[in-house]
Amino acid sequence: MKKLFIFLFAGFLLLAAAVLFNTFRMESKQLQVNALAAPEIAPQALRHFQQALGYKTISNSDPSLFDSAQFRSFRKFLETAYPNFHTKLMREIVADYSLLYKWEGKNPHLKPVILMAHQDVVPIEEATKSMWTVDPFAGEVKEGFIWGRGTADDKINLISMVEAAEKLLSENFQPERTIYFSFGHDEEIGGKGAIAAATLLKSRNIEAEFVLDEGGIITLTKMPGITKPLALLGTSEKGYLSLELTVEEVGGHSSMPAEETSIDILSKALVNLRSRPFPSDLTGSTLEGTQYLGPEMPFVQKMAFANQWLFKGIIISKYEKSPQSAAMVRTTMVPTIIVAGVKDNVVPTVAKATVNFRLLPGDLSAVVIEEVKRKIGDERVKVENRMGFISEATPVTSAESEGYKIVDESIKRSYPQTMTAPFLMIGATDSRFFREISPNIIKFSPMIDPIGFHGIDERVSLESYKTALWFYEQLIRSTK
Ligand SMILES: [Zn+2]
Repeated sequence: MKKLFIFLFAGFLLLAAAVLFNTFRMESKQLQVNALAAPEIAPQALRHFQQALGYKTISNSDPSLFDSAQFRSFRKFLETAYPNFHTKLMREIVADYSLLYKWEGKNPHLKPVILMAHQDVVPIEEATKSMWTVDPFAGEVKEGFIWGRGTADDKINLISMVEAAEKLLSENFQPERTIYFSFGHDEEIGGKGAIAAATLLKSRNIEAEFVLDEGGIITLTKMPGITKPLALLGTSEKGYLSLELTVEEVGGHSSMPAEETSIDILSKALVNLRSRPFPSDLTGSTLEGTQYLGPEMPFVQKMAFANQWLFKGIIISKYEKSPQSAAMVRTTMVPTIIVAGVKDNVVPTVAKATVNFRLLPGDLSAVVIEEVKRKIGDERVKVENRMGFISEATPVTSAESEGYKIVDESIKRSYPQTMTAPFLMIGATDSRFFREISPNIIKFSPMIDPIGFHGIDERVSLESYKTALWFYEQLIRSTK
């Protein structure tokens, strides 16, 4: 008995020693770069942003609502506001409204860089129109914020890039590397513009060092355990799939219902699906994120992140606690549309449900579809991808890549005391179409805790705009 106790105690000590050893060995991955103080926003730079917000470059899901005049006048506005950008760069119009600019670098042997943003914004939902405290297209500035549809998504990026380039051009600056600017016009509804731009670059055999598009932000508050500003660099993006489940059974009069109706069968299928979620795992960008965050966290969290061989289960269960973080560790699924029946006294023949999936990198759609059929386990439920549209999750960009380092360094230089970490993007961006142009795609928007993304009172702080202008200036200067 005593022997067993000594044996167990020794085992425990060994384990504790290993855990502590790993914890203390976990070193910070943060680049040590000092920030340069950002200049105040020039009056014309602020005016340009406000003007840009006035163009209703809206992407509606109903194509008949597309207002081409808005996109044409937005293009004209860019030409007028940024004369150097339009005389010294070569511009091509792609897919009628998307814009592709080329800024020739000094050194043709270096691979180019592609900076992306999109011109379009999401519509204002009719029901929410009266809930806005400002006119969403007036570009109002108040309480330290710039307000309006498209401020955060994504005109801050587009305008800041062009504004920074215009300033550098006026100083006769020329980058070492060639820089492309790709501004899609329909990111919110599929990204045909980005597809066309990527196809064009591909046809010219262009391989980019890296691609930077909208994505993660700088957050002061959103990461528990982190007290410094945290910049999240998207290094991969989840995939997108919608499946339609259909059940067809003999319907009839509701006074003499059969034991099981199409609605019953479909309901069971949905319950079965939802009660059997896809397994969670710590992989790819999320795993890499823990290696960047761990060393900066309080002791207990650091210990957990440093000893994933032991604490992985606990870490994953923490992620699973909120819908936002659960989406980082698993393929999610949720029914979004359900259709059956037309009359209160008729049992419908057909019942249909649409289930939307967001695929974790590594979970291929074909495998997910097979899993869904298995989870439902009922041959009477037909499972089809009727929309025909599937977007697989992207590969993971290495945080060791040159592109990641350049972006990382530019962030640290433009916003003081910021730490950075890779992360998995849940939403889709235009950059997913550029994977054949570069393996290094980074999704990051240099703004600090924007408010009202796709919603009411969308706004970014003046500090965000100042930071974005400064970030793109640092980035363009450093692309050597
Ligand atoms: Zn966007």
